[in-house]
Parts: sequence; C-alpha cells; structure tokens
Amino acid sequence: MHEKGRNLINIFLIRKKLLGKNNFCKFFPCHEGLEDCTFCYCPFYPCQEVDTGGRYIISKTSGKEVWSCTDCIFHHKQDIAYKILEGLIELNKNFSLISKEELKNLRKKIIINQISKNK
Ligand code: SF4
Repeated sequence: MHEKGRNLINIFLIRKKLLGKNNFCKFFPCHEGLEDCTFCYCPFYPCQEVDTGGRYIISKTSGKEVWSCTDCIFHHKQDIAYKILEGLIELNKNFSLISKEELKNLRKKIIINQISKNK
C-alpha cells in the first residue's frame, strides 16, 4: 500500500472515529452505494478474494495482471468500516506493523459475521 494510505489509516486509528462521506473529495462519489470514506485506501489490498467484488485484470498501462477493486464497496459500507476500524484498533499497532495474516483474519471475521447477520 502507498505510504499515504498507511498514514491515513493511522490517523483514523488515533481518532478512533470514522470519517463518514467526504463530499470534498474530487473523486466523490468514487463508488455506487458509497457510505463511508475512512478507508479510501483499502487496508486489505490486495485481498485476492473475489467474494467482495475484486478481480484480476490486465492493466491497460503496464499490460501486467493487477488486482482491481472497481466493483468492491466492502470497506465503504458504514457498518463494515466500523468493524474494520474496531478490529484494527484492537490490534493496537501502527498500521505498518500489522501483518498480512492479521489483516486476512480480520477480513474473514467480518465476512463471517456479516453472513451470519444476513441469515
Ligand atoms: S476487493 Fe475490496 S476488500 Fe479486496 S482489496 Fe479490493 S477494495 Fe479491498
């Protein structure tokens, strides 16, 4: 992840509060159904899991395979964003020190939680 993304996430870990909708962003709304802009940089990127809408595409610029999140609004849903923030705060670390495994577990926990909530 870009350093700017890690820094932004750390700011919200300190604030312990979601941003909500950022109407001042020049890309707003970047996704249909957008509810929260806290995780403009997805903490799970690249999750490589198709269950949230992400997929591999061939980049028009590099011609290489890249992970695309265009169809994913997972972390932009308010209840999910709250659970992500809560989960990251619980880990009690600078975002740069959180392992891929810890992020994978958090994402999995949130998805399982959502599935059982929707039953
Ligand atoms: S597909 Fe969604 S959850 Fe996965 S990395 Fe992209 S934005 Fe994050």
